[in-house]
Amino acid sequence: MLPDLPFDPSHLLIGGNWRAPDATLPLINPSTGDTLCQIARGTPDDIDAAVTAAQTALDGAWGQMTALDRGRCLARLGHIVLDHVDLLAQLEALDVGKPLSQARADAIAIARYCEFYGGAADKVHGQTIPYLDGYTVYTLREPHGVTGHIVPWNYPMQIIGRSVGAALAMGNACVLKPAEDACLTALMFASLAREAGLPDGALNVVPGLGLEAGAALSAHPGVHHLSFTGSVRTGQAVQKAAGANVVPVTLELGGKSPQIIFNDADLDDALPFLVNAGLQNAGQTCSAASRILVQRPVFDTVAERMSAAYRAKTVGPAMDDPDIGPLISHTQKDRVTAFLDTADDLALLAKTPLPETLPTQGAYVQPRLFGPVAPDHRLAQDEIFGPVQVLIPFDTEDDAIRIANGTAYGLVAGVWTQNGARQMRMAKKLRSGQVFINNYGAGGGVELPFGGIGKSGHGREKGFEALYGFSTLKTVAARHG
Ligand code: NAD
Repeated sequence: MLPDLPFDPSHLLIGGNWRAPDATLPLINPSTGDTLCQIARGTPDDIDAAVTAAQTALDGAWGQMTALDRGRCLARLGHIVLDHVDLLAQLEALDVGKPLSQARADAIAIARYCEFYGGAADKVHGQTIPYLDGYTVYTLREPHGVTGHIVPWNYPMQIIGRSVGAALAMGNACVLKPAEDACLTALMFASLAREAGLPDGALNVVPGLGLEAGAALSAHPGVHHLSFTGSVRTGQAVQKAAGANVVPVTLELGGKSPQIIFNDADLDDALPFLVNAGLQNAGQTCSAASRILVQRPVFDTVAERMSAAYRAKTVGPAMDDPDIGPLISHTQKDRVTAFLDTADDLALLAKTPLPETLPTQGAYVQPRLFGPVAPDHRLAQDEIFGPVQVLIPFDTEDDAIRIANGTAYGLVAGVWTQNGARQMRMAKKLRSGQVFINNYGAGGGVELPFGGIGKSGHGREKGFEALYGFSTLKTVAARHG
């Protein structure tokens, strides 16, 4: 059952008003298969109203707010979010099937994004540029205007924090389209933002289907920038729609990220990162370390130790706070199962046991570790987005780089070695938006620019860098003699 909420979860938030939708969709608890509540099935008209409300906010109170006051508002929101961490975590656990302590970490992360971008709002400067005699030239960083945010279901709070947080800091007005599978924390965050004093229309939330509300938002001519996180196929559709309106778009489309273990790695140190970066959120993580590349002399040791870790993990309903919850939906379970059906030829190293008490209607998939796997096998090439990792042996440093770079993606890579020169060489040669040396993920890294190359997407969110993406540069050349 849902906890009490300060809003009706079937409503949309447009221009500061909670509105009843024309139609609704059921929101399912993936741990049990129960319907949690009805949510809005936002229409293109709702998107249009939200874009108009955002533009009105830009033309009014929000547009007139100083950077300092925008920052204070975000910082206040961060504090309010921290006061509601337990409720937000509960909502995310029920909605996403994310184990409670992982959901709690996401709630703390969205507060941290508000704090970070609140502090940064008044620190984005233009430049003065030496030019011809008699001129003064300078640049201004300005908001794009109305920004559209299409968010997936796997990390709603984290992704809203990094994109909406940075967009608001720069003075944009946002229209947020959360995923149809998980939108409760988006609504709760927007409700808390009102409490923090965010002016009406600065953040509008329109839940709904991708092909309806999502497509309408990406094609809307009143939107000046789009931020999308999700699948490659949908990212391509969003980019095409953005292209028709000639607006910039940031795409974060997942990956097939490797962690590379050399002979001299400290395995005790590495082991939790190897396993958890694959199984966190049941493997439904864009930066999941779904490939583990292991230098041949330590392959058997790594395989044994990771297998033992897999067998010791727990699976269960999110509210029981196991290590691994269900997948988001039966659709996603079917997708992952279809991948596993192509793995008959692979050596299965370990499975995590499933308790007999699991709710029968939950979307659970048994976590599996495979190895050795050939680098060109489908399970080593495609994003599975489930609790599945493959171990790939390699011989030399050059082999490791070739295999690591041998997919269509390039989001994150991890390198485990004590050899400093090798660390530097690997960091340079890996085709990846982020490289972690003797760690993976750096504990979330709100401050660290994040994004991919290749099919992982383009543009950077998180860190200070995101503020440049969510703003545009104006050059002013004054001739005064
Ligand atoms: P998706 O890309 O279809 O959905 C992500 C978001 O886009 C949702 O809000 C959805 O409503 C919206 N959307 C869908 N179609 C749209 C359209 N035509 N125009 C505009 N918006 C649209 O992802 P999915 O179908 O939920 O998941 C499928 C696969 O995508 C997963 O198995 C996984 O491989 C990948 N995925 C990646 C991430 C990531 O973090 N990079 C997140 C979710 C899913």
